[in-house]
Amino acid sequence: MTGTKRKRLHVITWGCQMNVYDSGRMADVLAPIGYAPAADPDGADMVILNTCHIRDKAAEKVFSELGRLRRLKEATGNRMILAVAGCVAQAEGAEILARAPYVDIVLGPQTYHRLPEMVARAARAGGKAGGRGAGVIETDFPPEDKFDQLPQSRAPQGVTAFLTVQEGCDKFCSFCVVPYTRGAEQSRSADSILREARHLVAQGAREITVLGQNVNAWHGAAPAGSTSGSGSTSVWGLGRLLRALAEIPGLGRLRYTTSHPGDMDDDLIGAHRDLPTLMPYLHLPVQSGSDRVLAAMNRKHSAADYWRLVERLRAARPDLALSSDFIVGHPGETEADFEATLALVRAVKFAQAYSFKYSPRPGTPAAGAPSQVAEADKDRRLRTLQALLRDQQGEFAAGCVGLDLAVLFTGFGRHPGQIVGRSPFLQPVHVMGQAGLIGTESIVRIIANMPNSLSGTLVEERRIA
Ligand code: SAM
Ligand code: SF4
Repeated sequence: MTGTKRKRLHVITWGCQMNVYDSGRMADVLAPIGYAPAADPDGADMVILNTCHIRDKAAEKVFSELGRLRRLKEATGNRMILAVAGCVAQAEGAEILARAPYVDIVLGPQTYHRLPEMVARAARAGGKAGGRGAGVIETDFPPEDKFDQLPQSRAPQGVTAFLTVQEGCDKFCSFCVVPYTRGAEQSRSADSILREARHLVAQGAREITVLGQNVNAWHGAAPAGSTSGSGSTSVWGLGRLLRALAEIPGLGRLRYTTSHPGDMDDDLIGAHRDLPTLMPYLHLPVQSGSDRVLAAMNRKHSAADYWRLVERLRAARPDLALSSDFIVGHPGETEADFEATLALVRAVKFAQAYSFKYSPRPGTPAAGAPSQVAEADKDRRLRTLQALLRDQQGEFAAGCVGLDLAVLFTGFGRHPGQIVGRSPFLQPVHVMGQAGLIGTESIVRIIANMPNSLSGTLVEERRIA
């Protein structure tokens, strides 16, 4: 930047892909006022801790990291601006300033477009006696649309990019803190999403993952004069949006995450049939295989609904690989309920999955439920479920050996001469290949499966753009 001294910004990101996206956008917002990314917090002019509140002792982890950052801040003569962002900031803002008074800025996920103004306030108040921070706090849900306020220019993200299209959630699952920390569901307009997607592709992205806490609930204003899958002209659903994104020249791959089973409509299922760019991999959390637990979780779908949905998706796209989220030990879960979860897993056969022990989140209905499950039972159930899921993941990977898969190369592997990319099913794939292949898609014959990746040999080079 001409006329502005370059300052060093270090962002520490915890949690989901939406936080990764938010961290990138915070850097974008701060770039015009002179902040450039720094790999190390030591000596940085500003450090942002972008936090996640979804499980475990989230707040305690934040305070222990803040203790470490405090020493780095002191080493800069308290010049370093220390900010806490994300869902822990949203949920526990005042507590953070009380327990860590050296923090300068606390901001929720909906206010980061206001960061330059917060930084200016922090800089004016900075360097208080005793190393006290500026105490700037912004955790309300502002009336303006954050996405309309963000700058268009973004630092290149690389071959694969995230694009948030939807935020917040109105589902209120019994265990989940998201509706409280991220607020009500909000969808960006199709125009603003398509503009950002074209920009990402112009900057080198070949794959875009469309993000939302409940991404398939996306219902955004359609571009003027357009039609939707359902005939209305004013609002599009996610299926229609994916069809429009698939037309962007140079964009080879599309993915979306995370979906709720209740929001998979016909047009979105049809998009899996119609769009070769939409990768045959879907993360579709089910949480439990027991109808009793699903009802207690307020999931609004049964195990049979989920199974029927899987059948429709597989009819549309027979090679679709499924992933899911599971919670074991939700309040009231019995051994029989847990067995129902195992039965659902055996029936569906997942290519991969995430599974968690239920973790009470303050302020959520399940946290106050009387029938909490003993920790030892949660541990045992989690081990059993994870062993089954690991076997299924291994079986799926073994089934890939001998196949020729399109791999989008994203970077270097750990060994000299090795490059790494992703299969259509999101598995990391290693091959020996030239650096020039990074950013392109090639056909790879899979020769072996390792615990968390595949290896193969190049069969054919096929450039996407
Ligand atoms: N919107 C997605 C859905 O409908 O399933 C999930 C989003 S949530 C951010 C990611 C995952 O974290 C959930 O699918 C759930 O499995 C897990 N999770 C959320 N709250 C949890 C809790 N209190 N304890 C354990 N796992 C939890
Ligand atoms: Fe949380 Fe997903 Fe349920 Fe929304 S739908 S409350 S984000 S688990």
